[in-house]
Amino acid sequence: MSLQIVSTIIIVLAGLLMVTLERLFPYTKGQRFFREGFFNDFILYTIVQSYVLGLIIFAFLNYIKTNTGLYEYSVVGNWPVWVQVIFFVVVHDFYIYWFHRWMHNNATLWRLHEAHHSPRTVDWLSGSRSHSLEILINQTVEFAPIILLGAAPEVAIYKGMISAIWGMFIHSNIDVRLGWLQYIINGPEMHRWHHSDDEGREYQNNYATKFAFWDWMFGTGFLPNPDEKKPKQYGLRDTPDYPLSSIEYDKVHPKHIAKVTWVDTVAYFKQHYFAFRRRTSSDAIKEYMKDKKTGKETAREMEKGAKNLKHAPQKN
Ligand SMILES: [Zn+2]
Ligand SMILES: [Zn+2]
Repeated sequence: MSLQIVSTIIIVLAGLLMVTLERLFPYTKGQRFFREGFFNDFILYTIVQSYVLGLIIFAFLNYIKTNTGLYEYSVVGNWPVWVQVIFFVVVHDFYIYWFHRWMHNNATLWRLHEAHHSPRTVDWLSGSRSHSLEILINQTVEFAPIILLGAAPEVAIYKGMISAIWGMFIHSNIDVRLGWLQYIINGPEMHRWHHSDDEGREYQNNYATKFAFWDWMFGTGFLPNPDEKKPKQYGLRDTPDYPLSSIEYDKVHPKHIAKVTWVDTVAYFKQHYFAFRRRTSSDAIKEYMKDKKTGKETAREMEKGAKNLKHAPQKN
């Protein structure tokens, strides 16, 4: 059996394990399995988008590899495979920490990152929802050094498998308590706070994906005791026009596959288009407040104030 098939089987088994643990030990109680955008996240983002972007990225990188002599300067190819894997995991995670932080603090990049923060149910599957341009940038950066520095061919497969499983884990709704390990590796306790929308600035913390030490080193770690405080809600409440899927799984059974497919596919394309919407005055206020780092609540108050001003009777 090829390594590619074995890694796919391991990813599927890890997904099943997380679904089971979410049912047994939920972090946020009452979350539904079939929730907003389930089909969208599972079929369109996880399978179709990943497959298509994988083809594009690897075709592009192989084109560069065969048309330049870059990979001939390889130094990593002589290292043991496990050292290569650790090296690329750590280096890419350092890049992802800073790029992720930048996406939260730059108005244009935030447009691309909104999709990832849009799910109101954070679970094993929700992490897959990311704008294709964000994935295109991040995965090109992820796999370019692996291919162009002449790493062993299996390194890309191991790296892909680790990213897929770790991605499911940090979003999973499992009430896991990693204790002191949270200072080293990232898990749901920290990343679920990153997706919270509790009127505060929690979402401006915990940017790391695999290693939490980046957040502790660079001053963005946030980890209250989960027995005392947990996120109350997730998503983008300050962007109410974000095009979430309108399928209500409690009313439309998933067996109505044609309707679910259609509505979620439309939502997928709307979510992509939404990143290129025209800037409104409320966007400008939100961006201004983001720059000032004063939080969502103040931005909402300003927005409300601006609306009231607009509707206030004019005195002559
Ligand atoms: Zn984020
Ligand atoms: Zn996330």
